[in-house]
Amino acid sequence: MLAAANALSYRDFLTVALVVPESAGFPDNWIYVHSPELQVGRIQNFASWSPFLVKEGRTCLGMEYFVFEGDETWSMPDDDLIALASKELAQLGLVPADQVERGFVVRMPKAYPFYDAHYKKNVDIMRGWLAEVAPNVHPVGRNGMHRYNNQDHSMYTALLTVQNMIDGASHDVWGVNVEEDYHEEVSPGYTSKMSL
Ligand SMILES: Cc1cc2nc3c(=O)[nH]c(=O)nc-3n(C[C@H](O)[C@H](O)[C@H](O)COP(=O)(O)OP(=O)(O)OC[C@H]3O[C@@H](n4cnc5c(N)ncnc54)[C@H](O)[C@@H]3O)c2cc1C
Repeated sequence: MLAAANALSYRDFLTVALVVPESAGFPDNWIYVHSPELQVGRIQNFASWSPFLVKEGRTCLGMEYFVFEGDETWSMPDDDLIALASKELAQLGLVPADQVERGFVVRMPKAYPFYDAHYKKNVDIMRGWLAEVAPNVHPVGRNGMHRYNNQDHSMYTALLTVQNMIDGASHDVWGVNVEEDYHEEVSPGYTSKMSL
């Protein structure tokens, strides 16, 4: 069981939040970036999510990098990441680098359960072990089930589990998000930087 657990892998994530003038924002909540010459994969505009996320007169652009823990980008010093993100923002023609007031880096390990050739077998081993040895432990949610769930799927697995526990229902929590196609459409042969 431990070998199966240790064999599960993840894609990790880091965001460089750049504080810029409000006028540098855009109306969208986010923009996906496909330019192969840039490392950034997506940009969040936090003022578009909520004015309470930013200071008046400013917005915050979250430059998102899909990485592996310990790789070259992950290991860069914060100042270098802020410089990289500022440069890429300018390269995209969105905001000149001298308008970036300040930046913050947040690294998030294990943001994305990784589907390799063996993950299903490993999840099954853990599932079987839990059912046998610790049936009162109920795995739900994204990393709880090592399932690339969105927020709705994650909450739904929790709701169904509570019904199983309290109402004696027998929902198959592992059936959530098996048939549905949550993943964004990707043409064969195209390597996407996109992640949710
Ligand atoms: C960058 C990014 C963007 C996303 N965008 C979207 C989107 O636009 N729409 C959407 O639907 N989904 C989105 N998702 C997916 C969504 O965030 C997840 O599906 C959802 O948050 C998973 O919920 P969860 O409750 O399973 O896990 P989480 O939200 O990760 O909650 C797990 C909690 O457990 C805590 N925890 C971990 N270990 C311990 C411990 N040992 N003891 C106590 N607490 C612990 C963590 O701190 C965390 O608060 C996105 C994900 C990422 C990474």
